[in-house]
Amino acid sequence: MLTQIRGLHHVTSLASSATGNNAFFTHVLGLRRVKKTVNFDAPDVYHLYYGDETGTPGTVMTYFPFPRAARGRPGVGEVGTTAFSIPKGTADAWAERLATFETADIVRDTRFGQARVLFDGPDGDRFALVETEDSRTPWTGNGVSADMAIRGFHSADIRLHDEGATAELLRFMGYEQTDRDGNVIRFIRPDGNEANVIDLETLPGTAPAAQGAGSVHHIAFAVENRARQLEVREALKDTGWQVTPPIDRDYFWAIYFRTPGGVLFEVATNEPGFDRDEDTANLGQALKLPAQHEHLRARLERHLEPITD
Ligand code: ZN
Repeated sequence: MLTQIRGLHHVTSLASSATGNNAFFTHVLGLRRVKKTVNFDAPDVYHLYYGDETGTPGTVMTYFPFPRAARGRPGVGEVGTTAFSIPKGTADAWAERLATFETADIVRDTRFGQARVLFDGPDGDRFALVETEDSRTPWTGNGVSADMAIRGFHSADIRLHDEGATAELLRFMGYEQTDRDGNVIRFIRPDGNEANVIDLETLPGTAPAAQGAGSVHHIAFAVENRARQLEVREALKDTGWQVTPPIDRDYFWAIYFRTPGGVLFEVATNEPGFDRDEDTANLGQALKLPAQHEHLRARLERHLEPITD
């Protein structure tokens, strides 16, 4: 069993509008944009990162906004709901705040004893805010006060035809099953970061998801550094997983593998972080390009939708 994985590192999804996506995450949810770069594999498209002040692993929601992309169709084989953590007693205030921004499909419920607010993002992305004890310091620079601001991720909810093989994989990754409620099984990584929860939701009669705007593209798990990542890669390969070589994403190193349920998993390093190429005070303002795409800067600055706030 692996001991190197700490919890979530980031969640990456698809969007249809860069400015709409930016406005939602910064103005409505109050997160900080910590990086404005491009998709390293398709540099005509932004890669936008939102998180806490420095983009601490476990807080970072990222997007590839493909202009006018068609919406995805929810289903099994994907992350259905991405959940952020909020302080206890703030779900009502969040539901009211989301309503003032005309956020779609706001629903209150309770899962495993934790109060939640569920709602849709701009492309029908499904999110939850979960009341929990969380010691992380929130970003408050976008007008959401510290007593209610998002602390980072709480969990990701993976929808599957059958949970068996994915449950086995999570156990191998160091997660432990802690609870079950109907068709939902909760896994927690003990001694992890505070984004250490994965819920598996079994939906045997549901059709597979079709990826598009509003779909989660992949979820990334955090390891401390490249040495730990290599250990994880070797152990996964020894167990029969097809894992990519480590890929330099400038702000972390990434390896990827596809899970039995169809979800793309990444294992990303906590180093070097988002302040490697700009000051903490100015994170996310300038368009940052990786060295291999710097020669495209003039064209990309003309082509990409301006994001100024
Ligand atoms: Zn990623």
